[in-house]
Amino acid sequence: MGQHKILVLFQLSGLLLSKEVPILKIRKLSLGYDSDAGVVIAIDNLSLDIPKGKISSIVGESGSGKSTLANAIMGFVKYPNVRLSGSIYFHDEDILTMGTVQLRRMRMEKISVVPQAAMNSLNPVMKIGDEIHDIISAHKKMSPEEEKKIVSSALEMVELPDYVLNSYQNQISGGMRQRVMIAIASMLDPEIMILDEPTTGLDVIVQKNILDIIKKINKNKGTTVVLITHDIPVAFYLSDFASIIYAGKVVEDGRKESIFTNRLHPYTNLLIGSIPSMTGSSERLTTIPGEVKPLMENQKLCSFIDRCPFAIAECRSNELEDYEEKDEMVRCHRYNPSLKDNFTKQKTEDKGKSESGFSSNITSRFAVVEDHSIELIDLNKNYTVGRGSKAHVINALKGVNIKVETGKVVSLVGASGSGKTTVGKIILFDERATSGKYIIDGRDVTHAKDREVKRLRRTVQMIFQDPFSSLSPIHKIGYQIKRPLLINHMSEANDVKDNILGMLNLVGLRPAESFFDKFPHELSGGQRQRVSIAKALSVGARILVADEPVSMLDASVRAEILNLLSDLKNRLKIGILYITHDLSTVRYVADHIYVMNAGMVEEEGNWVQIANNPSKEYTKKLLDSVV
Ligand code: SF4
Repeated sequence: MGQHKILVLFQLSGLLLSKEVPILKIRKLSLGYDSDAGVVIAIDNLSLDIPKGKISSIVGESGSGKSTLANAIMGFVKYPNVRLSGSIYFHDEDILTMGTVQLRRMRMEKISVVPQAAMNSLNPVMKIGDEIHDIISAHKKMSPEEEKKIVSSALEMVELPDYVLNSYQNQISGGMRQRVMIAIASMLDPEIMILDEPTTGLDVIVQKNILDIIKKINKNKGTTVVLITHDIPVAFYLSDFASIIYAGKVVEDGRKESIFTNRLHPYTNLLIGSIPSMTGSSERLTTIPGEVKPLMENQKLCSFIDRCPFAIAECRSNELEDYEEKDEMVRCHRYNPSLKDNFTKQKTEDKGKSESGFSSNITSRFAVVEDHSIELIDLNKNYTVGRGSKAHVINALKGVNIKVETGKVVSLVGASGSGKTTVGKIILFDERATSGKYIIDGRDVTHAKDREVKRLRRTVQMIFQDPFSSLSPIHKIGYQIKRPLLINHMSEANDVKDNILGMLNLVGLRPAESFFDKFPHELSGGQRQRVSIAKALSVGARILVADEPVSMLDASVRAEILNLLSDLKNRLKIGILYITHDLSTVRYVADHIYVMNAGMVEEEGNWVQIANNPSKEYTKKLLDSVV
């Protein structure tokens, strides 16, 4: 091979720099979807190698093209509205030119996938055993004994008991459903297993268990694993190699240790900086200004330019290439030998650190002037499940004592099923306590009548976990904030528009005018969560109950929302009950922490006490499970 060819080959992928053997070779892949506005590019001339027998992560935020890439590898892209070019070689055969029969043989037997939202992928009207039987029969002919052996071995690998075969999907937990999906994906011994966001929505303890199972499958069976994720700590914990993807292109690619240590590309650096850490500074989190914009044509210049703090004039005019640096491939002019010297760090405003939305007008209208508090005292909540002789009582909350005051963020931390969401429901009067007391501002409101509840709900408001379903899809953003402002007399008709714009500005939706007439579907997840916060504040709330408000958001957006919660506490003196399973985020916002397990508060204290000196085994387990 001539010198030139070697150079071109090396420029295609950081993997080749590492001398690993590739099992998948993606070459100049471009994929776009037809839309009314033109072709929207999801993957933009992307080249990447996946090493055989290793775990590789493809890391990117929502809209970066990573799930489209997974679909392309599985051959799920041959639709009339898809514009496709390039190749994906698997054993030197191009997946993109395979016919239906060949693709069918490849799927599950050679390359399997655990899709995003896999927990909802099981058939609700079939027993899990029957569904597994159907899948095996569709791909292999085998005797019942052989099938039983394969299924038992797959269940054993994912640490599931045989009884799940006789269960429907709604009869087992989310973590068990995810393990069933991994068992299905691995049972026919595929060479490659693709996992698309395999731990999203799972609590930290279940997440660690799933990740360890994936590691075990890779080690024991030699399966090549491709992890598609937005979760950098998960990618770091699990993978051998990592590729950072932005706007449909790989911008940095190499060994995991090197990527996460060197952070060569400005995007990688900012992305990793936005992750809450269990150690180091607990100051405000770094954020990335702007957002990923849809691409309407293939880009020869850098797509990150409008968000990059290092951009120089040449970034706007010179075509980008892949450069080798520290045994990695990086796609940035900072590593272009002819431009290296032109770079000097540009100072840019970190919009995440800006609090300019807190104008004196809006602050004086919505700031808390008197102290408020809510308190649960020795509170119990029981649910009766089943009927007749099968009825039994579940003690969801047992003697819970919790206090939230204005000007403080209190965090309720625990795994799924610990009772933390039930606490939130009781505080918001969605549920009533079985016994114990609920006190607001010194008054016992445990048995408050509906009329009083309506008034009290102005004091305590909710921020929901899912920003995609918590806003009305048929109303514009301006209207969704206008209604609570007027109904709760927080604004007069003549100044309501100013106040709506003030609220949008306050929660960081700037310029506010540009959001006023938009519908929720036109906004990103982070923007929708900001609208939800504005709505909650617009009724004059003094205390917010935020139930996993950042668990569905990308890392950089998560940092923005956590910073916003801190600002609301510091600037408006709002009290916040932050309900989460993620201890690493708690450290950045919480003044006081309650650790919940099995319906009880096991332990409480500030971050230093909880993290450095946990007194309960459960707290230690929670801390150990943070990856
Ligand atoms: S090429 Fe320029 S704008 Fe793009 S990431 Fe590198 S420094 Fe920033």
